[in-house]
Order: sequence, then structure tokens, then C-alpha cells
Amino acid sequence: MAEVVSLQGKTAVVTGAGSGIGKGAALAFARAGARVAFVDVKEENAAKAMAEAEGEGHLVVEADVSKSEDVKAAMAKVAEATGRIDIVYANAGINGVWAPITELEDEEFDRTIAINLRGTFLTIKYAVPYLEKQGGAVLVTSSVNGTRIFSNTGATAYSTSKAGQVAMTKMLAVELGQKNIRVNAICPGAIETNIDASTEQRDTDKIKIPVEYPEGNTPLPGQDNGTIEQVGRLALFLVSPWADHINGEIVYIDAGASLVTG
Ligand code: NAD
Repeated sequence: MAEVVSLQGKTAVVTGAGSGIGKGAALAFARAGARVAFVDVKEENAAKAMAEAEGEGHLVVEADVSKSEDVKAAMAKVAEATGRIDIVYANAGINGVWAPITELEDEEFDRTIAINLRGTFLTIKYAVPYLEKQGGAVLVTSSVNGTRIFSNTGATAYSTSKAGQVAMTKMLAVELGQKNIRVNAICPGAIETNIDASTEQRDTDKIKIPVEYPEGNTPLPGQDNGTIEQVGRLALFLVSPWADHINGEIVYIDAGASLVTG
């Protein structure tokens, strides 16, 4: 095995690669030698992110992960351009609307589930025909919300989608492991990204239980918010051959914050 983590010769598909965690991971994968498909519903942002990538042979694919035809076409486009798909990072997601259950519109619930959970399902489903040709790795971005933290009251749809992703990861680790495809998930805490832009909080102050946290948000000094580079390194490790015995695992990346505040 290589002395450094290498994705040389591999093609990686990253959804939500135009911003935040997806962008950080896509750039890390490119630095490690992969050809990366920057998939995002916002094509312009994906192109800007790709412009920062090291190496050659990357591509931008515009796709809404909640739409079957988009995702199917995206995988076909990547396979056609690069001849293979080895790595898939189902990362695209939104915070959506956080509100008391009686105020959360049915359509708002559906939209969060459609992008975060159905989007993960479609991304993995339509990548499998390519991944199984030579084996591969799937990574999913879940969250501390819905798995360790349940105090962001009002984030019912979001947390449910994130918990669902964990179940999906474990189910598929067993199913796809037989095809030599590993499936793992990461659960970030607060990471500095643009996710606030996809967040609408309505009346959550009415339903929150007041909680007094210890000073600082994490046990590690000066690490209250994680960076996309820190998450990118974890993502790179998990999709690389260095993690070839890791399957169906959920890795938290929050400096230990949810151990204190969860
Ligand atoms: P972000 O808003 O910075 O990036 C999300 C990207 O996904 C954007 O480029 C956006 O255009 C894209 N996207 C949104 N809907 C899409 C769709 N339907 N199809 C394709 N692309 C779509 O946010 P982020 O913080 O980087 O979020 C990425 C993932 O990380 C999400 O799944 C989120 O739930 C998860 N997460 C984030 C945090 C955090 O603190 N930022 C913590 C835990 C989990």
C-alpha cells in the first residue's frame, strides 16, 4: 500500500461539491490524485470549486440529487468521461425548515427528506452499476443531529433525514460489501460552510428547552467550529485504500462536542 493516501487512477463523484463540506472533500480527493466529478444543483458554484482543484480531468455535472433522471444521467456522464466510478460521496443536503411540528408544512418536510434522504438513496443506487465493476467506496454525510443531538428542537425533518442516512449506510454496507463496495458515513458537528443559506427557522424559540452548556462548545481548545479542510481529510481517509477494512461505520467529527452537549 502507498506510503501516502492516494486516489491515483480513481474517479470520485461528490454531490454538493459547489460549497462547504462537499467542496472541501472534492478538493482533498483531487489533491490525492483522483479525477473528481463536482456535482451540484448550482452548476456555477461547482465550476468555481473545480477551478481550485489540483490535477486534471475533473468535470462539473449539474444535477438535483432528489431527481432520479438527473442522478442517473450524472453517473452516466461521469462514467463516459472518465471510464469508471470508484468513489461516491453522497453529501448534498439542506437544513431546510426548522419549525414546531404543527407549523412545519407537509411540503417542507417532504423537500428536506427528498434532498437529504431520497437524494442519498438515488446517488448510491445509480452509482452501483459502475462501482461494482471494480469495487469502490461510498461515503455519506449524516450529522450529529438525529444521531447524538436531539436538542435542536424543530429540526424534525432534518434530523429524521440524517438518522435515516445512518440506517441506509449500515444496510448498504452489508448488501454492497458483497460487491466489494464499502459504505461509511460521517457525522459532522458545526462546520463553517454556507448551510445557513439553506436554513429557515420559524418559531423554534417557542419549543426549545433552555439548556446551559459549559463554557466553549467543544473539549478541544479553539475548535468550536470545524473547517471543510478538517472534514475533507476524514473523507479522504475513509474513501481511500487505507480504510479498506472499515465498512458500515459512522465517524463523528466535532472535536468531541456532542459528547458534552448531546
Ligand atoms: P452548503 O450549503 O455549504 O453546501 C451544500 C451544497 O449542496 C451546496 O453547494 C448546494 O448547492 C448543494 N445542494 C443542495 N441541494 C442540492 C440538490 N438538491 N442537489 C444537488 N446539490 C444540492 O452546506 P454544507 O454544510 O457543506 O452541507 C453539506 C452536508 O453536510 C449536508 O448533507 C449537511 O446536512 C451536512 N452537515 C453539515 C454540517 C455543518 O455544520 N455545516 C453539520 C453536519 C452535517
